Amino acid sequence: MPVLTLLLACTSEAPDAVLAYVRGDDGYVIEPRSLPELEDPRTVKGTLGDMRHGGRIVGVGENEHYSGGRALSVQYALREGVAVPLDQDGILVYSFYGHLADAVRALDDRGVDTTPIFPLVLAWNPAVSPLLELSPADNAAYAIGANLFLLLPDGDDRDVPLLANAGVVTHELGHALLHLLMLGDPLLAPIVTDGTTEAGMWQASLHEGFADSLAVLLLDDPRFLDPSIAMPARDVDSNALLTSALLPDPEVLAESVLPIYDPYPLGTVFASLVWDIRLTTDDPEGTLDLLVRGVQAWAPEAADDVEGGAFLTALASAASPGPQHDAVCDAIDARMGGLLLVGGCP
Ligand SMILES: [Zn+2]
Repeated sequence: MPVLTLLLACTSEAPDAVLAYVRGDDGYVIEPRSLPELEDPRTVKGTLGDMRHGGRIVGVGENEHYSGGRALSVQYALREGVAVPLDQDGILVYSFYGHLADAVRALDDRGVDTTPIFPLVLAWNPAVSPLLELSPADNAAYAIGANLFLLLPDGDDRDVPLLANAGVVTHELGHALLHLLMLGDPLLAPIVTDGTTEAGMWQASLHEGFADSLAVLLLDDPRFLDPSIAMPARDVDSNALLTSALLPDPEVLAESVLPIYDPYPLGTVFASLVWDIRLTTDDPEGTLDLLVRGVQAWAPEAADDVEGGAFLTALASAASPGPQHDAVCDAIDARMGGLLLVGGCP
């Protein structure tokens, strides 16, 4: 009982920092970090959005939205001005919020405006409709159109939980940013809402490719998942290539045992192409700028042509003449196997 009294007394003061996973030069450490965006560490409310516990994601496509849920209540002790969560979930929540704040600031520094995305709801462990097509391995997601981050508990014991991995968080922000760049409003439904169509499959792959591209470029790390989970198929510095088997095909999908499209293999080809450009030009910031301008160039026509060739044509058109344009065309040549119709390259 005296311990409880002490905790309550301590936590009445506002903390200066929170304990969270922080990405350092030698990997991740759990240490105090300032997080001014998080205005109330108890309820996890702040300028980026408020976290809710439970609730449900209902509907799909344009009708998708979050329903219910309740305010979070993180139990923490205040030690020398640091909010120290009393359970692992609290550290995960602070880590996710912190990495999100870092990515938003890094993008802002590079002139990429993400403000229309915020504030949004961050849903901690909501019930999700099977139609949302989340696999059991997904620990975080962005619900496109609902403008919502989902944070799901990780069943596995990892050195760095997926929700505390800065690359995973940046990847999810990448979905929000691509949707914003394509449509100009985070609350609009995606251009294609049926994921079993050819355009829907391209859209899903381009989303995963852009999300991974943002993560590898902002962190300048082609293997950002490694601290959490070895997943060589997602590494962007290996030999991911477009083959005819990877080309979206609704008929093949319809005949498969589980007719849910897996956008990651093709997405990794796109992200690998972007990483090639970063390596060839030795310019992560210029490559990120190119990627954003490429999407902006493609956005007006994306409504009619959501597919990889149109996207890459826009990317080539957005490239600065000279080394950057050469790097884009070389990367397309190396990764796409001549299977896409791409304009703007010799
Ligand atoms: Zn994703």
